[in-house]
Amino acid sequence: MKEVVVLSGKGGTGKTSLVACFAALTPRKVLADCDVDAANLHLLLRPLVKEVNEFWSGQKAAIAAEQCSACGACRAVCRFGAITEESPPAVDEVSCEGCGFCARVCPAGAISMQPTLAGHWFFSVTPYGPMVHAKLGIAQENSGKLVAQVRNKAKAVATEGGYPYLITDGPPGIGCPVISSLSGADLALLVTEPTLAGRHDLARIAGLCRHFRVPLLVCVNKFDLSEENTRQIEEYCRREGMELAGKIPFDPAVARALAQGVPLVDYGENDAAAAVKELWQQVARRLAPA
Ligand code: SF4
Ligand code: SF4
Repeated sequence: MKEVVVLSGKGGTGKTSLVACFAALTPRKVLADCDVDAANLHLLLRPLVKEVNEFWSGQKAAIAAEQCSACGACRAVCRFGAITEESPPAVDEVSCEGCGFCARVCPAGAISMQPTLAGHWFFSVTPYGPMVHAKLGIAQENSGKLVAQVRNKAKAVATEGGYPYLITDGPPGIGCPVISSLSGADLALLVTEPTLAGRHDLARIAGLCRHFRVPLLVCVNKFDLSEENTRQIEEYCRREGMELAGKIPFDPAVARALAQGVPLVDYGENDAAAAVKELWQQVARRLAPA
């Protein structure tokens, strides 16, 4: 099984649309949506959820009111303003960072640290194949750990089912969730746009790929919106020894396909779909055994 992870320096570059197209173009694959903070691959692939799993991560303070002597020591040490002014006090779960300081200073032993239900992850079937995805709870952190959970499950499904490909929609940026989705992958496809910010983001994420020794391909989406910036990205790729695997033109059909919740390549013939098909050929070629 070969894994390609599709990444971009920021959200909104079209990477999820690309993953949905790849899903439609490849007969046997498992899909993983690792953009757990803003998952939206399900909008295009219409999964039927088969398994719901809880994701527990981190901890929050909880006060047993019957043991509390209302001394106020916990409120005095909480740097996050998470202990209310009431008597006895309570913990504001959204503000609590789980540092545990209040539990240490409480003279009555009234504070305990409780594990937090931080989200859920799902195993689903879609018209395009099995999919593992997740939803992080509001104001919850540690999405890197949830990404690892999604990826591990997707790998297990692919291995057990003898699927040749795992296609992963990665999180945007270069933080912990991206590292979690990138390390150990066979290939990263970096999606960028022809803007100054796009070039800057591409350089940052390419550096991350190099650090983790993950081979990469580059794709410029909406390349014809700025031929000059595209030329500079091409020049940058050449200088850095990075292969530019595809250039996708701006096409109003992309927005129409998105609005209808259909992968672009299933929406009919258009220039962008033709470029995406060609791009998948390049990706599959790089994933093929030498
Ligand atoms: S665990 Fe830390 S952040 Fe949470 S209430 Fe206690 S002191 Fe405040
Ligand atoms: S430190 Fe303990 S006893 Fe004092 S107010 Fe807080 S919970 Fe109550």
